[in-house]
Amino acid sequence: MSSDFKAGQLIAPPGSKVQGTLRVENSDLELPVTLINGETSGKTVIITAGTHGGEYPSVETAIRLANQLDPQNVSGRIAIVHVANVPAFHAKMQYVGPDDGKNFNRVFPGKALGTTSEKIAYTITTELYAQADFQMDLHGGDLHEALVPFVLYPSGVQEEIESVSKEAASLMGIRYVVGSLSTNGTYGSATTLGLPGFLAEIGQCGLWNEEEVTSYLRGIQNVLKYLKVLPGEVEDYGAITYLPKMAGVNADHAGCWYPAVRLEERVSKGQKLGEIRDYFAKILSEYFAPQDGVVLYVVTSLAINVGDPLVVVG
Ligand SMILES: [Zn+2]
Repeated sequence: MSSDFKAGQLIAPPGSKVQGTLRVENSDLELPVTLINGETSGKTVIITAGTHGGEYPSVETAIRLANQLDPQNVSGRIAIVHVANVPAFHAKMQYVGPDDGKNFNRVFPGKALGTTSEKIAYTITTELYAQADFQMDLHGGDLHEALVPFVLYPSGVQEEIESVSKEAASLMGIRYVVGSLSTNGTYGSATTLGLPGFLAEIGQCGLWNEEEVTSYLRGIQNVLKYLKVLPGEVEDYGAITYLPKMAGVNADHAGCWYPAVRLEERVSKGQKLGEIRDYFAKILSEYFAPQDGVVLYVVTSLAINVGDPLVVVG
């Protein structure tokens, strides 16, 4: 018999599902959360969606998953944060939050008395990650990002955390499984708490469709089976391309952006990825692949600002 599953003011007794809001510490902000507490004990899994403002397949997946999961079938506990970055979601802003201009996925583990993004990260870290055994953070191509689905797992961390994270990531039904050295995002920060997990990317350009949501739901359920939180056989999705690490280029001029590569194109180190021109078509800067690999996402907006991501190669 398991005990109550608590986060903030939400309490799910064994065998129950509770939906409500989790108050962000030292703010008026509330996050929509579902807690599912199985009747039998098992792992505690945290699923976050809507980390960035325009990554809609993740949010719709979280909403549906929360409604579909039946505590009678769950061994252990699942917490789902339907929209983690509520301010960015409603501001319809990509990359950063409207209150502090910070990238929410670069401020983990957060600060109790920090900016809005830092307070949300702190609340997720202390209320959810602190009691978890595994975490999944769901993303997608933001408003102006064309993206082929991929999943990032923490590499260069404790061996057992890396191997569990990588194995679980490879069960999402996503072809490209990519190592990452990030430490200040959701999954990187989670590893410092001894928590394996991954960051998945499905969907692009601020759009969402049934196919993407179905793909997400199927993958997450497969990982929950692997973690023995849901019953049933783990599916083997077959072909996976493992990529050791990703590397991107960012704009160092404001102007107009002209990519020279397509999604999933194999590029060699030094190959031209695109250029930024001014409003009179004069080239301001050219960008080249920082490593051999596969193009995982390409920014699609003609408008570009200093610091914006342009292309990522995995
Ligand atoms: Zn994202």
